[in-house]
Amino acid sequence: MSVILIIGRVKRLLMIAVTTFIVFAIFFGSYQWYHRGNEQAIEAISEAVKGKVVVLDAGHGGQDGGAKGKQGTLEKDINLQVAKRVAQYLEEYGVTVVMTREDDNNLVTGRWSQRAELTKRVEKARAANADAYISIHCNSFPSPRWSGHQTFYQPGSEEGRRLALHIQNELTRRIGNKDKRQAKAEDYFVLRTSHCPAVMTEIGFLSNPAEEALLGTENHQKQIALGITAGILRFLEGKAAPEKKTFFMERP
Ligand SMILES: [Zn+2]
Repeated sequence: MSVILIIGRVKRLLMIAVTTFIVFAIFFGSYQWYHRGNEQAIEAISEAVKGKVVVLDAGHGGQDGGAKGKQGTLEKDINLQVAKRVAQYLEEYGVTVVMTREDDNNLVTGRWSQRAELTKRVEKARAANADAYISIHCNSFPSPRWSGHQTFYQPGSEEGRRLALHIQNELTRRIGNKDKRQAKAEDYFVLRTSHCPAVMTEIGFLSNPAEEALLGTENHQKQIALGITAGILRFLEGKAAPEKKTFFMERP
């Protein structure tokens, strides 16, 4: 083998080594940069929401099963599973979470009525001096065709509306919004009597067989919980409501 050939081979090997090193350096560098950015974002959110108190209300419970799907899914069970996930995610950001119920028991002991139960739940939020109250429910309708999520707030409550719009928006980003539902003002007892901004979020229709099946899956529940969590965090950070864009027709 001639000297020139050996030098040529060494050069080639050197080139390969240098190229490999550069590719790895770029890959590793951007990976680090991406994660550093993520960590900084999480730290910034945590700083803004630390010490805030959120009450999560898993709708219904005990003898009150709520809506029931054709396959036998009980609303109270789905509500609790999703509420527990939201609690876990919020706590990771340093938010203090109070659950109105953590199992299948009601707050009212003895003679039960829905009004008494709801009153107790709102009182629990008041006692905790909550910054936000989120009641989690599943929807139901006589016709099986309707599907999708929708979040409600008390008419006239600007902060309730801001919270509802954030949750509606973040849920849509994660699970879509085929029927184009919007956050809506509705007069509900829990929303009306709450001392803090309050919303009721209907996470899907148990009367829709496809959605009933979906609501029972871990992945779908995770996406819903992430959406609700993100909406609450945006609200607690003080972010303005994500307004729906309105397009006006130009007059000819
Ligand atoms: Zn319900």
